[in-house]
Amino acid sequence: MSDIKGIIFNVQPFTVHDGPGIRTELFMKGCTLKCRWCSNPEGLSPKPEPGLYPDKCIGFSKCGVCEKSCVNGVAYSVYEDKLVAIDRAKCRGCLACAEACPSGGIKVWGKAYTPEEAFALVKKDKKYYDESGGGVTVSGGEALMQADFVAELFRLCRAEGIGTCLESALNVPVSELEKLLPLTDFWITDIKCMDSAIHKQNTGTGNERILENIRFLVSRGAKPVIRIPIIETFNATEENIRATGEFIKNELGGNILQLQLLPYRKLGLEKYSSLNLSYPMGDFKAPEREVWEEKLLRFRDILRGMGLPAEAGSGNAIK
Ligand code: SF4
Ligand code: SF4
Repeated sequence: MSDIKGIIFNVQPFTVHDGPGIRTELFMKGCTLKCRWCSNPEGLSPKPEPGLYPDKCIGFSKCGVCEKSCVNGVAYSVYEDKLVAIDRAKCRGCLACAEACPSGGIKVWGKAYTPEEAFALVKKDKKYYDESGGGVTVSGGEALMQADFVAELFRLCRAEGIGTCLESALNVPVSELEKLLPLTDFWITDIKCMDSAIHKQNTGTGNERILENIRFLVSRGAKPVIRIPIIETFNATEENIRATGEFIKNELGGNILQLQLLPYRKLGLEKYSSLNLSYPMGDFKAPEREVWEEKLLRFRDILRGMGLPAEAGSGNAIK
């Protein structure tokens, strides 16, 4: 039994978009980017943390055990007798409030697993992986912030003949990629924007290390799926799409499995609210379907014209 533990914030069985076949997807907590459109804010912090769901609160005046349990002087905000916010700056993440709450008004985002415990969750659906060519996908947050845990889990999966897929933004030291290289069947990553200054404004960091790590992966024989999230006001220009295509052709020799163009979806707002975080895209309105669909298809055709295996969406079979 290993003494490494991984912090996971979601376990999703029967996923079909992140890797081939039917998969169990594990979402690791902690991220090295802060993408403005992120729909999983509960994956940003590396530690377990409380998330508030006022609809489930049975009434602060008659209960209030959350506040009584907190020994860290955190300010609790109440509206219409429901707990609606805690002061994140003072919260130490001890989770005493969540453990004491009788009603699910405070949920814990993130739980520690040993690789063996995570493997047991994955293994129970092995017959579906065998029938469909699926397996496990580890995503995040940034899965490679917990590379030792993921490597141990993948070793266990490989020993049982379960396929492995890693989804990572690759904004990590190359040493973390190297730990997973011999254990990963499929890699999924992003090229969000080729202009590093725009990348930094929208994700908190430039793109140099990410592009360098993609070059490294391909130089070591991996053939990744690359995704471009298409987001108005960020990267949705023909100039960026062509620059991304040139990078893949000229610097990766076109050695990718698929290039997927993904639409922006305004998701996860209730999770931002549960964490007392504001949504970075504010009231930005997602384009109507006919608008983004036309754009994705136009960009796809540009990339196909460059000889690249581009697809609109993530639902196309990866072989
Ligand atoms: S997690 Fe701990 S420190 Fe944070 S509000 Fe709850 S009891 Fe207080
Ligand atoms: S412990 Fe739960 S139910 Fe009780 S006041 Fe706090 S959030 Fe509401």
